Amino acid sequence: MQPFTLLIKPSGSDCNVDCTYCFYKCRPAEVGEGRQRMSLEVLDKLVKDYMGLRFQLSGFAWQGGEPTLMGLDFYKRAVELQKKYGVTGQEVGNSLQTNALLLDNADWCQFLHETTFLVGISIDGPKELHDHYRLDLGGHGTWDRVMRAIDRCKEHKVEFNTLTLVNRLTADHPDEIFDFLIDLGVRYLQFIPCVEPALGGQLLTLDRSVKCQELTPPSVAEFSVTPKQYGDFLCRIFDRWMEFGPQKLSIRDFDSALSYCLSGHHSICTFDRQCSQYIVVEHTGDVFPCDFFVEPQWRLGSILDTPIEQLAACAQKKAFARQKQSQPNRCLVCRHLAVCRGGCLKDRAPMGQAPWRGRLALASRGHPGLAFRDEGVGLPNALNRVGDPVPPSNRGQDALTTVGVAHSYFCESYRQFFDYALPRFLQVAAQIRAGALVRPQQLT
Ligand code: SF4
Ligand code: SF4
Repeated sequence: MQPFTLLIKPSGSDCNVDCTYCFYKCRPAEVGEGRQRMSLEVLDKLVKDYMGLRFQLSGFAWQGGEPTLMGLDFYKRAVELQKKYGVTGQEVGNSLQTNALLLDNADWCQFLHETTFLVGISIDGPKELHDHYRLDLGGHGTWDRVMRAIDRCKEHKVEFNTLTLVNRLTADHPDEIFDFLIDLGVRYLQFIPCVEPALGGQLLTLDRSVKCQELTPPSVAEFSVTPKQYGDFLCRIFDRWMEFGPQKLSIRDFDSALSYCLSGHHSICTFDRQCSQYIVVEHTGDVFPCDFFVEPQWRLGSILDTPIEQLAACAQKKAFARQKQSQPNRCLVCRHLAVCRGGCLKDRAPMGQAPWRGRLALASRGHPGLAFRDEGVGLPNALNRVGDPVPPSNRGQDALTTVGVAHSYFCESYRQFFDYALPRFLQVAAQIRAGALVRPQQLT
């Protein structure tokens, strides 16, 4: 079967900090109740079944909430089980996305170093930018503690990269953020645009002086980056990346665009043809097709009663994966369709509906109950743009019935960015092909 990776949420939505822009605050219905912890029974079954698929590379991405709340022993057990159920030559990759507060600890760092976990640390830049939204449960900034944890990680040679949210505040400071991360010694950067709905105004408590006039309907929470801001941010970071040297620095979205230019395939799902790169396993063992769609209607089943390979290949999972091929008219006629694919489903706004959720814009043959929009029309994939890497034989296999889909909140950002950067991505790709620019293996 087609290999897939696991995004595991061992502590569910539980977290030890209280970021203003937290994904879960906008989805109160998705916040589990009580203390959420994966049992050793679920862990054993998960590792056993997944390792049993014998993929060449078995990828375990531990996320949250805050996954370090599970405690170190949980991860020691996970690694033991990976060894127990794996066979010689089977490669395993563990990654841990964390706010890092608990990593200011020698035992944790020693373990992460010895087991070659790749640690992703959430940090939004210099103190004044980070501490604006990334607050602890007492309302205090967390930057000092994150920096102490980073120092500890460095001391123990833990391999780490960074994840930075591009929000209404940070979006206006690309240079400060870039310089800060480079000075920190990080060479693998990830930027995520922050946009969430304004739910009944309860999130509109932040600095009202910041570009409120740029709010794009339907209303978004005040911390959300505007499309124009995000486009500008990407273009500026792209310039800095080019100046610094693409051979010396990995930026996740840019690597994906480069991969697209070289091979026709994106490495991140945002711009991929389908939503099918991974599955999410909740602390209970329940499985979902995407981190942004951990909702009852997208529950694929449980690893406790269905083999994981069946869940990963079930009809509902395939129907979810195909949703992306429903494109609004503006995408179907867009020069960037092949490289952009309309962006992430989460960001496709249904315009005027509340709550502001991508899922409301979805429609497919497999899920007739989801809302239809009036803007789009389903067309066979054969209409994809010139340069589409998909072989003609594959086109049309997911031809759509009539559907309506809304365009991405970030459409304007993507148009601006691809207009600006795509010609130079193609130049860099040509240099790589010609051997004039070499990216170390770990940056590819
Ligand atoms: S740039 Fe906009 S119109 Fe073009 S494919 Fe992307 S989301 Fe669609
Ligand atoms: S909905 Fe977005 S995050 Fe989820 S798989 Fe699709 S592109 Fe990726």
